[in-house]
Amino acid sequence: MIPVQGYENAKVAVLGLGRSGLAAARALRAGAAEVLCWDDNSNARENAEAEGFLCADLLKQGAFEGVASLIVSPGIPHLYPAPNPVVAAALDAGVPVDNDIGLFFRSFATRQWDSFETTPKVVAVTGSNGKSTTSALIHHVLTEAGRRTQLAGNIGRGVLDLDPAEDGDVIVLELSSYQTDLARSLTPDIAVFTNLSPDHLDRHAGMGGYFSAKRRLFAEGGPDRAVVGVDENEGKYLAGQLAEGVADDRVMRISTERKLTGSGWNIFARKGFLSEYRKGRQAGSIDLRAIKGLPGAHNHQNACAAYAVCRALGLAPRVIEAAFASFAGLPHRSQIIAESAGVTYVNDSKATNVDAAKKALSAFKNIRWICGGLEKEGGLGDLSDSASGVLKAYVIGREAANFAMQLKGIETEVCTTMQEAVQRAVSDAQSGETVLLAPAAASFDQYDSFEKRGADFEACVKASIGL
Ligand code: ADP
Repeated sequence: MIPVQGYENAKVAVLGLGRSGLAAARALRAGAAEVLCWDDNSNARENAEAEGFLCADLLKQGAFEGVASLIVSPGIPHLYPAPNPVVAAALDAGVPVDNDIGLFFRSFATRQWDSFETTPKVVAVTGSNGKSTTSALIHHVLTEAGRRTQLAGNIGRGVLDLDPAEDGDVIVLELSSYQTDLARSLTPDIAVFTNLSPDHLDRHAGMGGYFSAKRRLFAEGGPDRAVVGVDENEGKYLAGQLAEGVADDRVMRISTERKLTGSGWNIFARKGFLSEYRKGRQAGSIDLRAIKGLPGAHNHQNACAAYAVCRALGLAPRVIEAAFASFAGLPHRSQIIAESAGVTYVNDSKATNVDAAKKALSAFKNIRWICGGLEKEGGLGDLSDSASGVLKAYVIGREAANFAMQLKGIETEVCTTMQEAVQRAVSDAQSGETVLLAPAAASFDQYDSFEKRGADFEACVKASIGL
């Protein structure tokens, strides 16, 4: 645990008592703050009380008197579509609102660091898609290379649950837009922006707000090194703004769409080959095609980002290449769960938005595509354009018929349930085809989480093919 610094004997309120909220409460207590907790859910309050925390209704008149700060969990709206009433009350009372990420950055460095040979470093990864894969891949490569490293944030542990840094540690954080939007301190040594596509627009009042939230990672304090995906206008703009000149190699540009030229530090992947250029000269290359844990161009983008970070940390290209080869991939992200009678079964339940599903579709051929669920704001857009490899779509979700109607130019079957969709896809599938779950929608109309949806897919597949 990282004890929170700067709130000794001060009263700090914590709203939301899930994994990160409870970790924040514990870390504040360890830093000698007086903690007041609240969650609308009585079970969550009981859990906190069982650990000795005081729960108090923060909507009560005067609840914020003497409170130094309110710490808010990422799932709770702090501004759009409207601030949660407790957040609104804090703001009305003039109490600063922060989150666990802000507390982490203000508390991470300690006096002990003066005696370290190598100062610990923080790598923070944000972007619309690929954050978890990129973060996990960086962590994997560092581990394989024998570096001390810890992984936290949206993935794995809450940031304040991390062990205090030791000499030479590299902390890898996966940060969502909700987290970067609210944190009052954001000072990573290396910041990564993978890509941007519409998501969570209700929480950011549109695309501009969403981009601004992510951009804060590069603006508050300014990292030593910025790794920026430049395949969208926003990334190009961000890289251009951060660089002091064309040859400024504090900005590392990455692309999977084009060969990057110029005298800066560039990493790109084309036709399955990753190349690194610095000052106009090639410095490294990797054949990504044989790496099973990183299928498709989207994963090659993640590989470019992870490669850039590891190079910035001083690892040699060959060390990175060897570690890529042993990366197993993450569950629910282009994960091969079974192969039977020449048919491959792939679980990409994490494709909760249209862009992620498009990427999954372009990574495979001859696809029997299971899709549908709770549609994201912005609709399905031009999804049918990238579905040339789709033989047929098997649509699930409460609004399956409506979803299917939007899939123009694709043969569809309205299945509604996962079981029906899997059974239909399995009975249609021929050798050489892929049955792919890539919903292009959230799971909450039928499941508690994308993980449960992916697990159901896997169970239905295994039952249908008799594994
Ligand atoms: P995040 O943590 O940003 O949600 P994940 O690594 O969990 O990212 O991947 C989320 C979804 O996006 C998965 O469906 C995955 O196949 C897809 N995906 C992964 N990397 C990328 C990328 N670089 N660009 C677009 N989609 C991606």
